[in-house]
Amino acid sequence: MYEHLEKWGVSKKIIEAMNKIDRKLFVPENLQNYAYEDIPLTIGFGQTITAPHMVGIMCQELELTEGDKVLEIGTGSGYNAAVMSLLVGNSGHIYTIERIEELHKLAKERFEKLNLTNITAILGDGKDGLKEFAPFNKIVFTCYSRKVPEKLLEQLADNGVMLIPIGNEYLQVLKKIRKINGKINEENLLNVRFVPLI
Ligand code: SAH
Repeated sequence: MYEHLEKWGVSKKIIEAMNKIDRKLFVPENLQNYAYEDIPLTIGFGQTITAPHMVGIMCQELELTEGDKVLEIGTGSGYNAAVMSLLVGNSGHIYTIERIEELHKLAKERFEKLNLTNITAILGDGKDGLKEFAPFNKIVFTCYSRKVPEKLLEQLADNGVMLIPIGNEYLQVLKKIRKINGKINEENLLNVRFVPLI
């Protein structure tokens, strides 16, 4: 289904994981006909489920490997977390935070239904991260911020990777941040459009 993502540089392994997670289960009933289109879709509360190509690119750039401990800010529908959970395997873990209770609840139900036991869904404000489970090998924001939150950089493990869209409502760049021996290295990947970190 997502074989076309190879042209974006997305690996076969990631495409396989995306093919295993049925996106239809993550979109509202009235949009089910569009579930497999490569576009973001509204999930209510002014929020969206990320487009499949962007999920693929983020998983690729995060360099997800078996055993990774990952923090996601912005659970939304839960689709991105579900795909990542297959890529980190049972020795890895996904912690995902959402601030809207209804979305958090729906995502949690989906993870249970799919028996994705290596995901912990948390209701709360992602801006502070999750100190009690830090450090994380990978941190991914699925909402944009004006600047990189300091607290989250502290929670990134050494040799860890963080992906975060930085900018404003109109223009954001997806930044890839790597911590190497405690030093921060930043790279701009591509222009993107996400909903805001609130
Ligand atoms: N990864 C999601 C996309 C979610 S859209 C998916 O695959 O469907 C981004 C989400 O970030 C929204 O649901 C929004 O409510 C949430 N969000 C915004 N600010 C937040 C914050 N401070 N803490 C936690 N979640 C936040």
